[in-house]
Amino acid sequence: MSEKPAGRLVYECVKCGAKVTVDELELRGGGVKCTFCGYRVLKKIRPPVVKRVAAK
Ligand SMILES: [Zn+2]
Repeated sequence: MSEKPAGRLVYECVKCGAKVTVDELELRGGGVKCTFCGYRVLKKIRPPVVKRVAAK
């Protein structure tokens, strides 16, 4: 197994709002490009982390 821990980054297209994972981008040649609309301006977002918040 050669799973990269850093490969969990997710981009969000600023145009259509689609979430694109780094894995998908690498499969398409490594360029940053929306897989839905083709827009090239994506912003990095953190993937949703399941975190338990203690409610008071
Ligand atoms: Zn898009």
